[in-house]
Amino acid sequence: MKGLKHFILSWAAIILFIGLLFWFYYQTNLDSYERVDENESVSELHPAVQEAVGTLIDRAYDKDIEVVITDGLRTEEEQEALYARGREVEGNIVTHARSGESYHNYGLAVDYAIRNHDGEIIWDIHYDGNDNGEADWFEIAEIAKDLGFEWGGDFSHFKDYPHLQMTFGLSISELQQGYRPPNEEE
Ligand SMILES: [Zn+2]
Repeated sequence: MKGLKHFILSWAAIILFIGLLFWFYYQTNLDSYERVDENESVSELHPAVQEAVGTLIDRAYDKDIEVVITDGLRTEEEQEALYARGREVEGNIVTHARSGESYHNYGLAVDYAIRNHDGEIIWDIHYDGNDNGEADWFEIAEIAKDLGFEWGGDFSHFKDYPHLQMTFGLSISELQQGYRPPNEEE
């Protein structure tokens, strides 16, 4: 009986110690990020995202695909208006994120569509305008992932095919606390 108690206590101590190590590592890791007042809103797309979007448009254009960016930075009001769609307002649900819960609110996400050969903006993920047997939408996603974006089409819970984001290792909850990715232009 005494042996068992000793055994349990030893393991509890070891688990506690490992937990503390993880916590310490996590805190030190967060220290490498900038931190601003959590109420400070972001006013522009992050420069790294902006640059990657430019490269994405160029590389797609080389494949005879015209990418159109339909949405970038979203203010709190715009996010709430979008959240209302399919809920208080008529339409389909387009987001599960409320204000402050989307990477769009931190200038870290964009949405794309395609301009087809007739000059129309389309959201047809099967459209193969360059006629190479691959859907243009997925070709764009592949280029974007090469450039460091996460693609909403890979999300498991809610597929968001037009969505591209760069998290820089920051979760939404960390962004809400005011942590920001490094910004070389500042
Ligand atoms: Zn999006």
